[in-house]
Amino acid sequence: MSNSSKLLEKAIEQFASLPGIGRRTALKFVLHLLKKNADEVTAFAKSITDLKENIKECAVCHNIADGEICEICADKRRDADIICVVENIRDIMSIEATAQFKGLYHVLGGIISPMDGIGPADLNINTLIDRIMSTDVKEVIFALSATIEGDTTAYYIYKKIKDKENITVSTIAKGISIGNDLEFTDELTLGRSIVNRISFSG
Ligand SMILES: [Zn+2]
Repeated sequence: MSNSSKLLEKAIEQFASLPGIGRRTALKFVLHLLKKNADEVTAFAKSITDLKENIKECAVCHNIADGEICEICADKRRDADIICVVENIRDIMSIEATAQFKGLYHVLGGIISPMDGIGPADLNINTLIDRIMSTDVKEVIFALSATIEGDTTAYYIYKKIKDKENITVSTIAKGISIGNDLEFTDELTLGRSIVNRISFSG
């Protein structure tokens, strides 16, 4: 497919560079944008540049944030006694969609994977340990991939926090796909696995 307009072609290429978007869908988007008025298209483009320029990482949990602290950490109605440990911000979105968890999160930014050269120092693990040890957190829930890497990561963290007094460490039910397979887990199953979380025994 080639187009008589270089401008059109350039816009199509941009949309087609997004995951899961083929050239046919990209063309549909571009033609749709062409039908909108100039203000709408400007607002569309600005929301993308603003995103990249202004979005921050939460100083507490490493979630995305508009300011210093993310909306979840800043929400006083949430239960600060519980921290749910996840790999990435997409996991937060999935868990939030279940409406079954009212605690706080901590985003590791990945999991320990020696095969990929990812060690504890490459992840937000030290900030998590500091957070757990220096606050009144009473429960830590691991919501990591049901893989060897996920287990290794959970165990690594568990060893560092298990001696803290009055702390409960739990994990979402085994067999729940979270992390990379998250999109295959439905909200109901994920929600249930958080409510019926099991004790993490190492
Ligand atoms: Zn936060």
